[in-house]
Amino acid sequence: MSYDPFVLPFSIGLVIVIILILWKYFRWVFLHDKSERIQILKTIFSLKLFSIVKEIFMEVLLHRRIFRINPVLGYMHSSFAFGWFLLILGGTIESKLHNHNAFNMFYEPIFFKFFSHNIDGFPFASGFKFIMDFILLYILSGLVLAMAKRLYKRMFGMKHTTKLKLVDRLALTSLWCIFPLRLLAESFTSAQYHNGGFLTGNLGDFLVTFLPVNQLAYPTWWAYSIALGVFFVMLPYSRYMHIPTEMVLIILRKAGFKTEKKYTGFSRVEVQSCSRCGICLDACQVYTATQRNKMLPAYFLQSVRFNKKGKQGLTDCLMCGRCQEVCPVGIGVNAIRRVKRNELFDEKGAEFGYLEETKHISKKADVIYFAGCMTHLTPTIKKSMIALLKKAEINFWFMDEDASICCGRPLQLSGKEKDANILADKNRELIANSGAKLLVTSCPICYKIFKEDYKLNIKIQHHTEYLNELVNIGKLKPVNLNFSAVYHDPCDLGRGSGIYNQPRELLGKISVLTKTESEKNMALCCGNSLANLPAGFDDKELMAANAAEQLCLSNPDKLITSCPLCKKAFAQACNEKKTAKQVEVKDIAEVLAEAVNIKNF
Ligand code: SF4
Ligand code: SF4
Ligand code: SF4
Repeated sequence: MSYDPFVLPFSIGLVIVIILILWKYFRWVFLHDKSERIQILKTIFSLKLFSIVKEIFMEVLLHRRIFRINPVLGYMHSSFAFGWFLLILGGTIESKLHNHNAFNMFYEPIFFKFFSHNIDGFPFASGFKFIMDFILLYILSGLVLAMAKRLYKRMFGMKHTTKLKLVDRLALTSLWCIFPLRLLAESFTSAQYHNGGFLTGNLGDFLVTFLPVNQLAYPTWWAYSIALGVFFVMLPYSRYMHIPTEMVLIILRKAGFKTEKKYTGFSRVEVQSCSRCGICLDACQVYTATQRNKMLPAYFLQSVRFNKKGKQGLTDCLMCGRCQEVCPVGIGVNAIRRVKRNELFDEKGAEFGYLEETKHISKKADVIYFAGCMTHLTPTIKKSMIALLKKAEINFWFMDEDASICCGRPLQLSGKEKDANILADKNRELIANSGAKLLVTSCPICYKIFKEDYKLNIKIQHHTEYLNELVNIGKLKPVNLNFSAVYHDPCDLGRGSGIYNQPRELLGKISVLTKTESEKNMALCCGNSLANLPAGFDDKELMAANAAEQLCLSNPDKLITSCPLCKKAFAQACNEKKTAKQVEVKDIAEVLAEAVNIKNF
């Protein structure tokens, strides 16, 4: 058996990290109830295992999603993950072939060249020398990029990078030391015993010309072992915990778990899967417009992970979901934030006396139209919709024409889930009594809650979908007005509900639609979302103006959206001359009303 005391820091660190990770895995799994644990086991011992292994390989090792965001960044991340994996795998095979023994000490592949001075004489020995040096070079090239990223973030497509905690810095420093120390240790040893490949061999031959390699080799193996040990001990407390955790996340996702209304074991796994890579930073308009950063997923998830109290990370967020779209790990940050908001707010004392006092009577109709409170504040949208429904001769009931009840979504977003349920129960009763088969909303926020939370037995459509259908079946016959238009995807309708094509199809029939840089899943938020509780008027106006300017780079005649809040936000920013170009802002229902020649509604 090969042994030297210098292997101890590595060995002790490895034992500690394995115990800590297994303890964490055990706790996460046992936070799930028995049926969920069975579900996890069934997933692992099923054909899904192939897709789990494939995803772990593609995402945890190769970082495919980061490659798609920026190839240089992807290369950098994968060189550490995939390169290190290959180094361990290659070293294991090499040491077993050399020792002719399937059972050697676990540290031998890591310190192979220290223990085996003559590494020739086994199959592919010279090939291994080349391959192992090549893998080391691959990792070192990633290390050079990681260092460059600290100075030239823009080369990696990033404007901002995350600020690191002390434990992250320690882990990062030890990680950065591991591979240069291995290079030096192997090169010094190669200078003594000529067992290096093209990299370590040549470097060793060069270093021996001016350094006392005999004295330096042994301390460098110690330093390499210490760097490994320190990294392992730091790993569970640092951002690098994301490495083992992301694998668990992939398994749990395949088993069908997601964060919904409670903070579960799965939520914990999501939180610890954040690598604090910082890719979400540039996507956040609150951050880019106001420089406030506590709400950023990288810091919000960190505060949840370390049980830090503080409102700002929870409340200072538009819940627009842009950050989620770019997150390479696919963490459901908004769901976690919503759950944590519910924990923050005291829900005692909910008072909805008006539900009893006001008369809410259902009317029989084929279609229910629910405008929503924001649409009532932008009456031209409501009037256009009513006029369009009449023109198409639809038998409809304007459910919230007067004395309306809110859909409950703003309460949900502010963390008052129970209060939102009280309103939902009343609305459910009214909808059921009307006998309608379809509910149409003008507000994407109402649409999302009716569709996802109400569990109604009728079809739910946003007016972009319904109006497009009415045009397609010939109930509305618009003419092409030939103005140039850009379309803004409201967050809750686009990213939130996946409705991207219907509004474009409809607008294509009445205007000349041009593309914008930030559209569809990367659309900008209008900045006025009800979900952001502390943002003041000035901040919201600034975000709206920034978004409107970016949307109107092609100088369109009209900026068209399909959310009353977005329309109000953009119209205000443009009318107040906060933007360089004052573009006309309209809702899609308003331009369709013009195109079907409805006047004086
Ligand atoms: S939330 Fe996603 S994008 Fe943001 S730092 Fe974490 S892993 Fe990276
Ligand atoms: S949801 Fe929107 S506002 Fe909130 S952190 Fe993400 S990008 Fe920023
Ligand atoms: S108001 Fe419009 S842009 Fe803003 S969060 Fe809501 S849907 Fe998104």
